[in-house]
Amino acid sequence: MDLPRIFTIRESSHRIHNPLTPEKLAALGESLHLAPGTRVLDLASGSGEMLCTWARDLGFTGTGVDISTVFTEQARARAAELGVADRAEFIHGDAAGHVADQPVDLAACVGATWIGNGVAGTAELLSRSLRPGGLMLIGEPYWRRTPPDDKAAQACHASAITDFLLLPELIEQFQDLGYDVVEMMLADQDSWDRYSAAQWLNLRRWLDQNPDDELAPEVREELTSEPARYTRYTREYLGWGVFALMKR
Ligand code: SAH
Repeated sequence: MDLPRIFTIRESSHRIHNPLTPEKLAALGESLHLAPGTRVLDLASGSGEMLCTWARDLGFTGTGVDISTVFTEQARARAAELGVADRAEFIHGDAAGHVADQPVDLAACVGATWIGNGVAGTAELLSRSLRPGGLMLIGEPYWRRTPPDDKAAQACHASAITDFLLLPELIEQFQDLGYDVVEMMLADQDSWDRYSAAQWLNLRRWLDQNPDDELAPEVREELTSEPARYTRYTREYLGWGVFALMKR
């Protein structure tokens, strides 16, 4: 049970595995106005940057769960580096179906709603760990502009246009599920570049160091095609944001 190696090659220099910058992530944490001691569950916590920096800056405490051994080790090292290892714990495991032992104040799934088979199932999964009145964070793509056809949607790594909604429609989807949308932090094209363009140098450096690896042809092909694909499609059509939700 682990994340395929290609992800850790692409995102080897990333602390944040989503299109928010450190500044946006910090502003999101502050925007929630939660007290020190806030208990967090972060499903698909990646390298733990959200939990670790919010533990350091905002005094939160909590647990992250992620299926990647590499990212989980990085998260634990980051917690130690930031002096919050006593407050931020990271578990290696499948977050699908993971429910906290004790209800938390803030339950998050940022950029991995497939663990609940989509937005509705992920909200339901998070709600099982959340205390009444608690806050939920869901990170999810949306269309900045509707792609012209399914081919363009597929070039954004969707299976079809219907995979994602426009931003107002995504907000209405959360509301239709019975939530108030109480805050949001959106990526923009520049912050998308910090996630996507930042992968290209990682690919190139890895290729230079691992020319005989079995993944080398795949990485070569990706490095060749990815910059034009990203700028032609994802950068134009795909938005992404983290939405803060409270049950009505
Ligand atoms: N929330 C983090 C990571 C987002 S990337 C951040 O924003 O930085 C998506 C993450 O989902 C990766 O870390 C990947 O390892 C994790 N993941 C994918 N499937 C998972 C599963 N079934 N259970 C737990 N984590 C999973």
